Amino acid sequence: MSETDETRSNVESNGGADNELPKTCEVVTGCTIPVDIFIQSSDEKLFGAHTQNLQAFSEGFPMTHDSRKVVWFTESATILRLFLPFTHNVKPKDLSTLSVDQLVSLAEVADKYKNQFALLACRKAFSHIAGKSSENAMKILRFKSVHGDFEEIDDVARLTMGFTVKNAMKVFGQNRESFCIWVQYQESWLKCMEEYRVAVSEHPDFRVHPTGYKESISCPSLANIVTAMEPVVKHLGLRSVDDFERALRIARSSPTVHPGCNCRALGLWRASIHKSLAGLPRWSQFS
Ligand SMILES: [Zn+2]
Ligand SMILES: [Zn+2]
Repeated sequence: MSETDETRSNVESNGGADNELPKTCEVVTGCTIPVDIFIQSSDEKLFGAHTQNLQAFSEGFPMTHDSRKVVWFTESATILRLFLPFTHNVKPKDLSTLSVDQLVSLAEVADKYKNQFALLACRKAFSHIAGKSSENAMKILRFKSVHGDFEEIDDVARLTMGFTVKNAMKVFGQNRESFCIWVQYQESWLKCMEEYRVAVSEHPDFRVHPTGYKESISCPSLANIVTAMEPVVKHLGLRSVDDFERALRIARSSPTVHPGCNCRALGLWRASIHKSLAGLPRWSQFS
């Protein structure tokens, strides 16, 4: 059914001043709550809604003094159709299939009208959608930074480190403060990654593998692990100590890696890497 057909099916056609106002609520299937207020989208679609629900679920919802009880919104019908179900006591929809632009617009309207249920559902979908591409992550990062939603912001920010400053500036637009944080974050990130690379390559310096003679050598077992880890890290990405540990576990289970060695080399190497990754930036450092 097209939007126009849907609209018509909800419009009373018996004439009078209210003849264009929808009589039913179309955003939740089977909703029987009486319609006593109307919401008009920026693209002029009218939705029937319920005053009590709007007030109960969305603190900060604008009330109307309009004689027809119409409230004008700056959001499109597509976004309102996503948002209005969150003013009902129904199971929230899974938002992970939305486009990043739709999800961010929904989060913006949810934040504007303080609808915690919608915000929670958006947050749940953020990490999934941010993980799909760095462009998605960047748009979500901008929302989180501008709206002070700092929960898990580092997980999202770390997905955007491949962006050029020029492209980041385009995404942040007028949000200069967030852009400045991002620039400092990336600078700190690159420095930390350089320290990590140095720490990875310094394993031959740990000459603690016993030979049975006077001299110890660098550990051949560790050298194997380091080689096996390289493609794993490349594939999984490295954004935290946990990522490093995960890659290490995978590399150690590889058939090309000899059974573990009891010398101190692996422990020393691991500690130096943990130390290098301790310098990973946090958004809160700059905000
Ligand atoms: Zn309803
Ligand atoms: Zn060894």
